[in-house]
Amino acid sequence: MKNQHGREIVPTQGDLPPMATPLLDWYDENARVLPWRQYPTPYRVWVSEIMLQQTRVQAVLPYFARFMEALPTIEALANAPEDTLTKLWEGLGYYSRVRNLQKAARLVTAHYGGQLPDSYEELLKLPGIGAYTAGAVASIAYQIPVPAVDGNVLRVLARVVASEEDVGNPQVKKAFTALAAQLQPQDRPGDFNQALMELGATVCLPNGAPLCHRCPVAGLCKGYQLDIAQTLPVKAPKAPRRVEDRTVLAVIAREKVLLCRRPSKGLLAGLWELPNLPGRLTGRQAAEAVESWGGAVQGIAPLGQSRHIFTHIQWEMEGYELRCAPFPPPEGFVWASGEELAHRYALPSALKAYTRDLPDRLSGQSKEDRK
Ligand code: SF4
Repeated sequence: MKNQHGREIVPTQGDLPPMATPLLDWYDENARVLPWRQYPTPYRVWVSEIMLQQTRVQAVLPYFARFMEALPTIEALANAPEDTLTKLWEGLGYYSRVRNLQKAARLVTAHYGGQLPDSYEELLKLPGIGAYTAGAVASIAYQIPVPAVDGNVLRVLARVVASEEDVGNPQVKKAFTALAAQLQPQDRPGDFNQALMELGATVCLPNGAPLCHRCPVAGLCKGYQLDIAQTLPVKAPKAPRRVEDRTVLAVIAREKVLLCRRPSKGLLAGLWELPNLPGRLTGRQAAEAVESWGGAVQGIAPLGQSRHIFTHIQWEMEGYELRCAPFPPPEGFVWASGEELAHRYALPSALKAYTRDLPDRLSGQSKEDRK
């Protein structure tokens, strides 16, 4: 495959870096022990791969353990209530991932006898499963020789072949996927994919910091030999994020806090949250908003500023705690106790600056009391 200048994007057949053997030998010695690697059933591999999208391994570990304990089978996942699912995912972000997991589990239960299909093409038809995840599940769980190219793999390959092509370009990604397929040994396709990912995650690190002195393929890495590895891969600059001001209201009445549910589509779809309004409101304006919902505000305390960065949006937040006498919740709102916050309602981590000590604040215990 050639770029717009007529040059090959990645090496052709005769010039492939022979990296499978040194890479697999290194993987056999150095692979991290991870629960989904120890018992790589299709279900466990699938759930782990979905959790690992946009999320570090260390962060995923406790979520994976909890998820598998609560929902040990595809059928259990298919039948889980929505609040259970979102609570299990609380803090992982990108909640569409868990909704798609359940949609796919329902299809697998209905059409595949509760077993994930052992076919790359069939996996690709399931909600939330793209080329990378289908490749990972097919190769790791079923030993089907197909590539699985994520950001880690793209980085390693771009450095090994010293490619200065923009890896955000779909055509370039396609060329690297074809390269990974050519390099993949038929007898250990899943291990090869995992070894590439592992190398990217632990040695060929992002942001200009590869640990080449510890790398099993340094001897054949062109980026290393040309001393340009730190500058690779090339990525076109991203569009700037949209900045939104929000005012977050922790409305508390008789040891309960007011929650509302986000719309079923879009950012943080369907999650419960503290009510928040566009713009930066003063305390008086925040109180007026609560009064418009029927609450009689008895006290206002500022909770300070906070920022949360999503992929395309940045929230700049101002928070207030408003103490009220109890009042009927407006439509779409609920009063939640500390117990319900802990076990029932999943709140987005975007608001954690205002929610992390809510149970204590509900019970009236201040930070000072706990010192
Ligand atoms: Fe990455 Fe360095 Fe290894 Fe090349 S030698 S693959 S740049 S860690």
